[in-house]
Amino acid sequence: MCPLVLLLFTSHSPLILLLFSLLFTAVASAAPRLSNRALRQVRQYRFLSYSNAIAFAGVSFQLLLRVSYPPPGLVLAYLKPRLATRRWLADARAMSVTGAIYDYDLGVIGGGSGGYAAARTAASEGLKTVILEGGEEVGGLCILRGCMPSKALLYAAEVLHLASHAESWGIRAEDVRFNFAQVMARKDALIKDFADCRRQQLESGKFKFLRARARFADPHTLELSTGERLTVASFVVATGSVVAPSPLPQLDEVGYLTSDTALSLSRLPKSLIVLGGGAVAAELAQFFVRFGVRVTMIQRSAHVLQKFDDDATAELEKVLRREGVNLYTGTRLLDARRVGDGKEIAFEHNGQTVRVRAEEILCALGRVPDIASLGLESIGVRVEAGHIVTNEQMQTSLPHIYAAGDCTGLHEIVHIAIQQGEVAAHNAAHADRMKPMDYRLLTEVIFTEPQVAVVGLTEKSARATKRPYLAASYPFNDLGKSLIMEAKDGFVKLLADPVTGEIIGGCCVGPVGGELIHEIIAAMHKRMTVHELAAMPHYHPTLAEIWTYPAEELADKCGR
Ligand SMILES: Cc1cc2nc3c(=O)[nH]c(=O)nc-3n(C[C@H](O)[C@H](O)[C@H](O)COP(=O)(O)OP(=O)(O)OC[C@H]3O[C@@H](n4cnc5c(N)ncnc54)[C@H](O)[C@@H]3O)c2cc1C
Repeated sequence: MCPLVLLLFTSHSPLILLLFSLLFTAVASAAPRLSNRALRQVRQYRFLSYSNAIAFAGVSFQLLLRVSYPPPGLVLAYLKPRLATRRWLADARAMSVTGAIYDYDLGVIGGGSGGYAAARTAASEGLKTVILEGGEEVGGLCILRGCMPSKALLYAAEVLHLASHAESWGIRAEDVRFNFAQVMARKDALIKDFADCRRQQLESGKFKFLRARARFADPHTLELSTGERLTVASFVVATGSVVAPSPLPQLDEVGYLTSDTALSLSRLPKSLIVLGGGAVAAELAQFFVRFGVRVTMIQRSAHVLQKFDDDATAELEKVLRREGVNLYTGTRLLDARRVGDGKEIAFEHNGQTVRVRAEEILCALGRVPDIASLGLESIGVRVEAGHIVTNEQMQTSLPHIYAAGDCTGLHEIVHIAIQQGEVAAHNAAHADRMKPMDYRLLTEVIFTEPQVAVVGLTEKSARATKRPYLAASYPFNDLGKSLIMEAKDGFVKLLADPVTGEIIGGCCVGPVGGELIHEIIAAMHKRMTVHELAAMPHYHPTLAEIWTYPAEELADKCGR
């Protein structure tokens, strides 16, 4: 009897407990028909009620605590009553939402920026959360192969560029050289620190962190690469993206760099063909050209950064060409082949076939969501054009499965991935008061020099949506501080509602444009008008005071 009692209270499988309960009941009801001596004892009323009471208490106790992992319920309840209660509350919530018991309330697939934000938010909302990271390294794209390594290298290129052009300020810095191995080593050290920090955050204990790749076995069950299975009430899929396949099969035979490999080269190529004209292509083209690589850039559409307004992209194209990038726009790729030690790309340009050769090719034609192995279609999650379809609450077509970040294919911007992760986790915790994503302040920054930054509407997007606007610009070559800095490329532009004067968009192509745009983010966040921005004091001489010029011009034009 004693081991049975102990088992009832310490077993961590409610199924076993239920079986024992049923066994007791069965024995009790069968007892009158049994004749052997031991079972005649069972028939005695007091023993029956005693044993059934123990069974019932054991099952109830376990169902209450529902501690499905060691240490066993009784010990945990005795030693850590608060923890046991918290876990019980979390379990109770999972049970109440779905009417079933799951191992976790929320499962986050992917430990990058979006996934970590979702797990942190869910845990702070009291959800019993598990996050799964299946990559070779922990850190996610931004830290390991995205924002941080690229910006560390671009800043080194900026320092090199300034040092090499110091004569503008009357400074003679002769024979400026660099040690590429040191440049890369500094970047690697920074990345290691950032990745260590992310690992510590994931291992902080606020939620369960598992190193495994996950796929859906059914809408509430994950199958892990470790062989484990987890049942979960709700999910946030945040599996990020992978480099898009090359557009020419011949490129696969020839071989090429991607942004993943270009950021960890041990040696600079002498010459490079960059395919693409997006943010990554433009940033890396400038990085390589500033480090002395002969760069040819081939872009399909009429301008680089095709989503941006033409005045902004024209300014960047001017600078890239001035710095030595051989830029072709409006092209169509035809062929790729090896020629001796080099590689050749053939493309159509202005009706002619052009061939360019270089030591290496960098294919920077974008990324695609990393969702192929998740089994989403088999459970009914809608996928369109390769990305997970979500509503503005970040819910997929299965309402208990949310998605965030690059796998949703909406924007490849890290703070958006974070915001989406937070919104998804909040909504998983509060079905009664869901939050939508708000893209009114959508911001994008290209870290070339000049930096290109936009927030809110561009003229292109305003025209496309037939949104009335007024726009005014002001150039950096007419501003005191930028003249002091010899930073004369670029301009700022404001878009305002013609009637109210509310600022609805901003663009900065210029020195530290990624920083300067934050004044307009703040202004738009508070729905400021151009009149208010123009009246706001700005210190002199600063770069930031440039915003007052288009604000004043628009304030004169907008009715109020
Ligand atoms: C070169 C480059 C520069 C960039 N620069 C900037 C920049 O300056 N500013 C900016 O805002 N954005 C930048 N980005 C974009 C930014 O890095 C991404 O938008 C952001 O990191 C996406 O975060 P995420 O959480 O969606 O995905 P990720 O960070 O990629 O995280 C996804 C995680 O999921 C894991 N995973 C995948 N499948 C599974 C599975 N089945 N099971 C378990 N785990 C899985 C992966 O291993 C990965 O760690 C840049 C991107 C690149 C490529």
